[in-house]
Amino acid sequence: MISPKFIVEKLHAHSFIKAVAITDHNTMQGYAEVRRLAASYRDLTIIPGVEMSTRSGDFILLGVEEEPSYTSTVWEAADFAKARGGVIVIPHPYRIGGIGDLAEKIPADAIEVINPTATKRENKMAQELAKMKNLPGIAGSDAHVPLQMWTAYTEVSADLDIDEILKAIRKGWVKPVLADAMI
Ligand SMILES: [Zn+2]
Repeated sequence: MISPKFIVEKLHAHSFIKAVAITDHNTMQGYAEVRRLAASYRDLTIIPGVEMSTRSGDFILLGVEEEPSYTSTVWEAADFAKARGGVIVIPHPYRIGGIGDLAEKIPADAIEVINPTATKRENKMAQELAKMKNLPGIAGSDAHVPLQMWTAYTEVSADLDIDEILKAIRKGWVKPVLADAMI
């Protein structure tokens, strides 16, 4: 429920957030529109992403522009991701809509350890999972409406470049931050 135009304008106006991952559920159409609009600005980086709805819960893939043709099991989603070299993020593993204990088994590149729509306890469990799997912890705003934008973000030590950002996420050069909305 956030228009591509709104995202691009707010990103441009933001004092320090200059990159976003667009992770609509099961579609790349919103991403394509955001990327198109962002092309008029020099300072914005739009990371392709998708949040795949699987039978077991949500699964995020970053860095791949191809729309997944199916979204049945989380294992198939992981296969789709691996075959295309994307960055797998397990979002809100212990919140409703998360993949729960399956997160221990699914191969991933990062765990979303801060999600403002999850409880403190659910985020804490996600943090413990990241530690156990020895994976980087990142933050996602999970923004569905404008007020949720920037409620969490990830500081990434990388240039404003999609490949550099994805590489930095894999390497763990990240710091998840829970913030107040600053829209
Ligand atoms: Zn989700």
